[in-house]
Amino acid sequence: MRLHNGAQMIYTREQLTAAFLEKNRRKVEMLFSDADRYRKECVGDEVYLRGVIEFSNYCRMDCLYCGLRRSNASLKRYRMEAKEILESAALAAGLRIPTIVLQSGEDKFWRIKDICLLVEKIKKLNVAVTLSIGELSAADYGQLRSAGADRYLLRFETSDAALYGKLKPHSTLSKRLRCLAALRKSGYEVGSGIMVGLPGQSAESIAEDILLFKELDVDMIGIGPFIPHPHTPLSGAAPGTLDAVLKTVALTRLATGNTNMPATTAVGTIDPLGRQKALACGANVLMPNITPAAYRKYYEIYPDKICISEDVFECRGCVEGMIKASGRTLSFGIGGRRGFDPEKKK
Ligand code: SAH
Repeated sequence: MRLHNGAQMIYTREQLTAAFLEKNRRKVEMLFSDADRYRKECVGDEVYLRGVIEFSNYCRMDCLYCGLRRSNASLKRYRMEAKEILESAALAAGLRIPTIVLQSGEDKFWRIKDICLLVEKIKKLNVAVTLSIGELSAADYGQLRSAGADRYLLRFETSDAALYGKLKPHSTLSKRLRCLAALRKSGYEVGSGIMVGLPGQSAESIAEDILLFKELDVDMIGIGPFIPHPHTPLSGAAPGTLDAVLKTVALTRLATGNTNMPATTAVGTIDPLGRQKALACGANVLMPNITPAAYRKYYEIYPDKICISEDVFECRGCVEGMIKASGRTLSFGIGGRRGFDPEKKK
């Protein structure tokens, strides 16, 4: 079954499920090349860079899959100082990384007004600012947006409400979706995403995830494999496979058109060429790690994360090499889907 033939672009849950379960290699390769072609048609050959600063690994949540969960007493916790965060952002801006992503566990130490101050200062570097700091109130999202944050990443992780409830005991899928709606209302570019291969996740539920991306009209979609962490209740579970992740990336590109989709660090962790392969079947964004090397190994959401001994210069050089080797173009633009351009917005 050929899913994409230019004109026909409506995918049903059944089609997506069947394509996800496809075992015939020739057909799977066809899906990947269809997605690659459609990526080129919808978002071009440019690859956008988003530099990630993992500024705190403290977390009040207890998600069963995540190494930062509060019950993981074996993890050394850290919080970067505001000054260090600003230095990292300035270093990245100097290397022409035009979007800074601030990511952390759900760390209540930081007050919203402190994060607002950070955002205001980083915006002075003339970059786009993305936040990825979890579930907050609509008022908090609004304040951060007013301070200048352009984008927000909040994965819904899985669209299966029962599975979500089991994996995230302090949240519910409906709460997560309310957060995404509040973010949209505040005027952010909104990113979401899922883990592929979660224990108990079915092919049908992946199909539903893709339909939900479309329904929410999200701007950015991060798709990575679930990787079991030894100090979590899911330590014994099987990881998500490269094939399942790449199929999900390809189908999501075909279903969503012009969204921005990173080749995630997690897919680079389960396969040394994982990110290159994701770039070749629908992805158009890379997220170099710009966290100072001293902290990287402690932001252990899953084990054996790549790039933990590199510094920002090495990560920046590595992604540039990867883009060139893939025959693509490195973009110095911010790659906004809703026309955001901080250089014009003054
Ligand atoms: N606390 C923030 C962001 C930090 S975690 C939030 O909740 O949004 C960023 C992402 O890492 C999560 O959304 C999840 O999809 C992913 N992640 C967490 N644990 C993982 C694991 N064991 N394997 C793969 N990805 C994981």
